[in-house]
Amino acid sequence: MDLILRNCLLRNTKSFVDIAIKNGVIELIEPKIKEKNDKELDLAGAIVLPAFSDPHVHLDAVLTAGHPRHNESGTLLEGIQIWSERKKELTFEDVYQRAAQAIKWSVAQGTINIRTHVDTCDESFVALRALLKIKEDFKNFANIQIVAFPQEGVLCFPRGVELLEESLKLGADCVGGIPHFEWTREDGIRQLEIVFELAAKYDRKIDIHCDETDDEESRFLEHVCALAIRYNFGEKTLAGHTTAMHSYNNAYAFKLIRLVAHSGISVIANPLDNAILQGRFDTYPKRRGLTRVKELLSAGVNVGIGHDSIMDPWYPLGRGQMLQAAFVLLHMCQMSGRSEQTSVLDMITYNNAKALNINNYGIAQGNIADLVVLDAYDEFDVLRLMPQALWVIKNGKIVAQTPCLETKVYFGDEKENIHFSKKL
Ligand SMILES: [Zn+2]
Repeated sequence: MDLILRNCLLRNTKSFVDIAIKNGVIELIEPKIKEKNDKELDLAGAIVLPAFSDPHVHLDAVLTAGHPRHNESGTLLEGIQIWSERKKELTFEDVYQRAAQAIKWSVAQGTINIRTHVDTCDESFVALRALLKIKEDFKNFANIQIVAFPQEGVLCFPRGVELLEESLKLGADCVGGIPHFEWTREDGIRQLEIVFELAAKYDRKIDIHCDETDDEESRFLEHVCALAIRYNFGEKTLAGHTTAMHSYNNAYAFKLIRLVAHSGISVIANPLDNAILQGRFDTYPKRRGLTRVKELLSAGVNVGIGHDSIMDPWYPLGRGQMLQAAFVLLHMCQMSGRSEQTSVLDMITYNNAKALNINNYGIAQGNIADLVVLDAYDEFDVLRLMPQALWVIKNGKIVAQTPCLETKVYFGDEKENIHFSKKL
């Protein structure tokens, strides 16, 4: 064996198990594995989850907040304007260093599978080249997928179609899109057709920024679904944001959600960014501007959660922790019921992995040993505490470790160690 984890708590169980890992794969899960091993970790009842996935982040823009200026209006459009100014200063080294930092933060907090968008509205493709190099250099540390993302449009940007196609030839894994950014609705539909044509031609997956607006007239998701059905691309297609769905009338939303379920595409909500960006044109009441997560889930749609931004022109906060994104989604979508909390945890594990087409995922014999051990001793403490990852394991190897935190409290002459997960 390469590694044995002792006294692990798994979800839906009360008793502990041991997990043995060999050649990067989970070899055995048993209450007590007799075999002794050179390399063993005693988890003392800490919970083990399959590693998190982040299906939607912008690694080319991370850690640029405030450069050249801060987004004072907090709107998506000011964010895009600031980014187009910052983009002129991008160098290979600049993108590489910032992305590397964000990946290390993410992995340290249990996220092994990362899908990043990269802005391809750039004749030099400097960010794409840097992220392709990162993907190769970090392959033993994180699984990275790259989306060619036409941030400033395809038809409304000079040579937009050629730039998108060129980025696929350079090695991007997915074709991206942003139909609501085009000048007209018709151009938005044409953009989606181009995306599907390119994906079919180059055998790539599809990942669309879709209807990221509070405009209830923005209805590109239905076209994404229709094209996914026609191209038989359901499992390979992902629609991010779909925040306009928040504002659709209920009759249209009902019809649309059935279509989304029928198409087999995945939907990714990005609660951190959209909590900040949406509803900015509202007075009161203010819309929350998040897609209809509960309704999509109950219709059988695979819905996941993305982190989206880490300190960039759209979202000035963030630390690359998927639990934080899940925590905010739980609140904004009011998923506080016991079974709903379980669903939220599924979203950043199983649903996200499914959206990214990760195979052999999960804690079961024969699956890849990509695991995170959290400083929590009860499944329902994972979202309550957003605890640190004590160990992060990729292909059976430890890639990050954080010591267990205990706080000393002093009252009078006495002192006591307290730990937020260990309750009376
Ligand atoms: Zn995004």
